[in-house]
Amino acid sequence: MSEVTELFGKNVFTLGKMKERLPKNVYKEVIRVADKGGELSMETANVVAKAMKDWAEENGATHYTHWFQPLTGITAEKHDAFVSIPDEDGKMITEFSGKELIKGEPDASSFPSGGLRATFEARGYTAWDITSPAFLKESSCGIILCIPTAFCSYTGEALDKKTPLLRSMEALNEQALRIVRLFGNKEATKVTPCVGPEQEYFLVDSDLYMKRLDLMFAGRTLFGAPAPKGQEMDDHYFGVIRERVGAFMKDLNEELWKLGILAKTQHNEVAPAQHELAPIFDTANIAVDHNQLVMETMKRVAVNHNMRCLLHEKPYAGVNGSGKHNNWSINTDNGVNMLDPGDTPNENMQFLLVLACILKAVDDHADLLRQSAADVGNDHRLGANEAPPAIISVFLGEQLEDVVRQLVETGVAATAIQGGKLETGVSTLPDFEKDATDRNRTSPFAFTGNKFEFRSVGSSDSIASPNTILNAIVAEAFDEAATILEAADDFEIAVHDLIKKYMTEHQRIIFNGDGYSDEWVKEAERRGLHNIKTMIEAAPALTTDRSVELFERFKIFTRTELESREEIIYETYAKSLNIEALTMVDMAGKQIIPAVVKYAGVLAKSVNEVKAAGAKSSVEAKMLDTVVDLLNEAEEAYQKLKEVSAKATAIKDVKEKAFYYKDTVKTAMDELRKPCDELEMIVDKSMWPIPTYADLMFEV
Ligand code: ADP
Ligand code: MG
Repeated sequence: MSEVTELFGKNVFTLGKMKERLPKNVYKEVIRVADKGGELSMETANVVAKAMKDWAEENGATHYTHWFQPLTGITAEKHDAFVSIPDEDGKMITEFSGKELIKGEPDASSFPSGGLRATFEARGYTAWDITSPAFLKESSCGIILCIPTAFCSYTGEALDKKTPLLRSMEALNEQALRIVRLFGNKEATKVTPCVGPEQEYFLVDSDLYMKRLDLMFAGRTLFGAPAPKGQEMDDHYFGVIRERVGAFMKDLNEELWKLGILAKTQHNEVAPAQHELAPIFDTANIAVDHNQLVMETMKRVAVNHNMRCLLHEKPYAGVNGSGKHNNWSINTDNGVNMLDPGDTPNENMQFLLVLACILKAVDDHADLLRQSAADVGNDHRLGANEAPPAIISVFLGEQLEDVVRQLVETGVAATAIQGGKLETGVSTLPDFEKDATDRNRTSPFAFTGNKFEFRSVGSSDSIASPNTILNAIVAEAFDEAATILEAADDFEIAVHDLIKKYMTEHQRIIFNGDGYSDEWVKEAERRGLHNIKTMIEAAPALTTDRSVELFERFKIFTRTELESREEIIYETYAKSLNIEALTMVDMAGKQIIPAVVKYAGVLAKSVNEVKAAGAKSSVEAKMLDTVVDLLNEAEEAYQKLKEVSAKATAIKDVKEKAFYYKDTVKTAMDELRKPCDELEMIVDKSMWPIPTYADLMFEV
């Protein structure tokens, strides 16, 4: 066995390990519940818990935890040792019962609940997600058995990201099965969404990071003039990976493989010090869990290499920010990817219906999809000067766009454009079969062969929400289509008509051009598509009547849950901006302004000395004037930012508060940054109090 095969899954209580360690009937029961739902009996749970504990202890674990995903967007854990009361001889006994495996009551009352726990009941419970395997987490804390769990309130409201995701997967399963049945697939018993998230990140030297309060508190630079060199040469993208970064990637891969995460692709990204990791896709809820572990492991391993991993969507102004491409497909358990068009998509009626339903779903719920990719950092990407745009549209590529056009215009798609040969023009190189469709890098929602790639998601965000929304909106479209088709007298005609109808009604959502262009913004407006610029403007999408109806119908969210989530968005936004504003005040007041004052003193002294020596001091005097002007501007902006931040904190209504931060505090922040960045360019480098962009981006 190679090192990798030996390492892979070492820290996971896989099905294989369960099969080895559990009595046959118990193992069967676990599989049945994982596949079909239902509950484990307490006897079964006890046997599983015992086996899990034995395995964990054999591998050095001392504690277990119910690992969950509260609405902070990251994960939470509270460790309990396996120790229990010693026996009469004073010998330590370790314990872990079925009850402790299945259910936990972590209290955890300080997590955001958007008022849910105050108005209802304070108790919060965690429940084992049997479909995501338990694993061992190794850190200086020792070895901890982590049990992936959902987190709900006493009255059953979801307080986390996993519960609605699992509910949405069930909804999609039920509706997608109806669709495949209509096309004669009787073998499939389950349909699962699969997800492969490509994760972008930055690395920065730890020592430099520790000198930047903004990186420490906000995860991004709040000041900083551009370095003389940025990403314009495209020499970092896919470039040779530097030794220090390579050593980090090697350790990272090994840690991820141990956790059973299929870390596959690694490369340098476009911006200096930016990188990417892509795993092989997996079932949606496992992919979500794994992505959390990827982000966490990146941070931990970076520290071991005296670096910090920045997952913020926009750590540096002026170069690319980071996103997370959420590749999503729908698969039956008898091996059919419902998004696979085959060679002749024009003849593949099931695929065309699925495609038509997805176009309808995305068009009907573009606001929800946009909302699902919103987080504080992502406001710097979506709708700012960076891709993808905040306007949700679908890229289909030449081949499918042509098929849709034929269907809409004539009702039949007689042909499908084929790729043909790509001639390399070199006799010793092979000619290639070309893909029928080229790629598009500017679309937020692009069809890429046999999956959709949702490119709007932010790099630091959980991918639970985007996938919950995708599953939900597509389940709704499948439901509607299945209801019509199941009642049809002539299925062939009905399906044909329905595809044509959906494609005609929703073709406005298709856009194959340059999503970054100004023309598209105008064109999208003409088509009546949403262009929602910020996280807090996207939030109300959650609670429109249309959304509430969708989520309640499929039992994914109740209205109360949605309202609580909307409220948390405003809270989170206001808190994050408050931290940023206070950090700027701190840095400007204690570091930047004092440094500039000192520098102005040096210049003033020099002006006087030069004058005293009888020479003209025009250069020094001019420099002094410029510095003093900018210093005044900075001081004024600094006072203003302090003033509006104080006002913001006093606002009671969370929504009003969030909007005040967006409209007023953010503007004041920009106004303070501007003179400070200009000063950075002219103040003596040895006197500048914080590492510069050149230091941060080119020293790893
Ligand atoms: P691309 O080059 O089109 O972005 P890759 O093959 O590099 O595609 O894959 C990108 C990500 O998409 C990977 O995480 C991969 O595992 C995932 N992926 C590939 N096929 C599928 C699929 N059918 N469903 C979901 N994710 C997929
Ligand atoms: Mg990709």
